[in-house]
Amino acid sequence: MSVSESGTHNADAISPGAERDPATGHPRPPRREFKARGSFVTRCEGCNLPELNCLCPYRVTAQSHAQVWLLTHPLEHFKPTNTGRLIGDVLAQTQVFTWYRTAPDAQLMALLEDPRYAPFVIFPDDQPDYADRVVSMEAVSDAKRSAKIPVYILLDGTWRQARRIFRKSPYLDALPVLPLRTQRETRYRLRKPASSAHLCTAEVAVELLRQGGDETAAAVLDDYFEVFNDSYAASRFYHRIDDPTPAMQRLLGRQASGHG
Ligand SMILES: [Zn+2]
Repeated sequence: MSVSESGTHNADAISPGAERDPATGHPRPPRREFKARGSFVTRCEGCNLPELNCLCPYRVTAQSHAQVWLLTHPLEHFKPTNTGRLIGDVLAQTQVFTWYRTAPDAQLMALLEDPRYAPFVIFPDDQPDYADRVVSMEAVSDAKRSAKIPVYILLDGTWRQARRIFRKSPYLDALPVLPLRTQRETRYRLRKPASSAHLCTAEVAVELLRQGGDETAAAVLDDYFEVFNDSYAASRFYHRIDDPTPAMQRLLGRQASGHG
């Protein structure tokens, strides 16, 4: 469909404030396709957050022994409230793969065969049929002792999507399943969790890193997640955060001291 066609097509439905082409009088199509709530907010090109409270000044990288690989549901990828992407901002070695039921990612397949890595699928141990694959953090320590790089494979999506990824990905069936055991309650404010025990993806990574001995990386990611969470939530109410929060101050301090 050409621009002029789309412009005349919905002429009756156009909102009163919409632009019109001065030459033809036809309504102009919207500049950006409407996708979700918040689409008309001006977003920073660096962090994709509303510009009002941009995340970019707080970006700090960290080193970790373990790696995080994300297997992200296609519907999750472009949601600005996705927290999986925060992990890659902090930990440069993070890998992100899009999950498709019928077409496993070739690079992921190759990495799963790579003997340098000890991959663990992070998933609850609430079903009996894979009980024989369930391991504890002790297995992460064992992997480190045998000079392997522990890898936390996070299934990034809603709980329903994560369960589908877990059940419909035969290449994950041979891997050990590591359930996250934590008392932490979610602090994620951008989506309503079914339960306070349901952590978002970045929070899961924080707790795994912490329990696996990557305390600094965990602390940086936790602060970065908190700044994301607070900044995004404030922008929804058109509130600018003028005084840096404690997490913001800690990240700025790490940048200033060259740790990161
Ligand atoms: Zn930004």
